[in-house]
Amino acid sequence: MWVERTPDEISKWQTSAVEEARSHARLIAIGVLLLVSVLVAGGWFVSFRGGFAVHRTMLGSFWLRLLIIAVMMAPFSWFVFRRECRNELAKIHGRSICPKCDTAADGAAGALCPCGGTFVPQSTVKWIEDEPKSIA
Ligand SMILES: [Zn+2]
Repeated sequence: MWVERTPDEISKWQTSAVEEARSHARLIAIGVLLLVSVLVAGGWFVSFRGGFAVHRTMLGSFWLRLLIIAVMMAPFSWFVFRRECRNELAKIHGRSICPKCDTAADGAAGALCPCGGTFVPQSTVKWIEDEPKSIA
């Protein structure tokens, strides 16, 4: 059954939600940083006029360019991280559940469930077993 969380449990839930959002955002930010850096350092630019990738010969070694570009990309990647973190956290906070029939929904807190129950934010409830099972 679903029971209400205590304020202490809610704050713990929020801490883990922030952690979850951060690890998700970190993955995307690093992925974007690596992808763009390797492409640019490799000399591949997207030509906005032509709409296709063009190869350009550049001076310097690939690894030096990669390093310079990665440093230049850092603020952008931080921006991506912040944005993804915020979006993911909003998504996690939007998770709701119908305690009556155990249906999960996104952003439906307060809405009526077809079973007659009301969706509540997942942050405010937790699942516990109806009867504690004894270990034989
Ligand atoms: Zn329901």
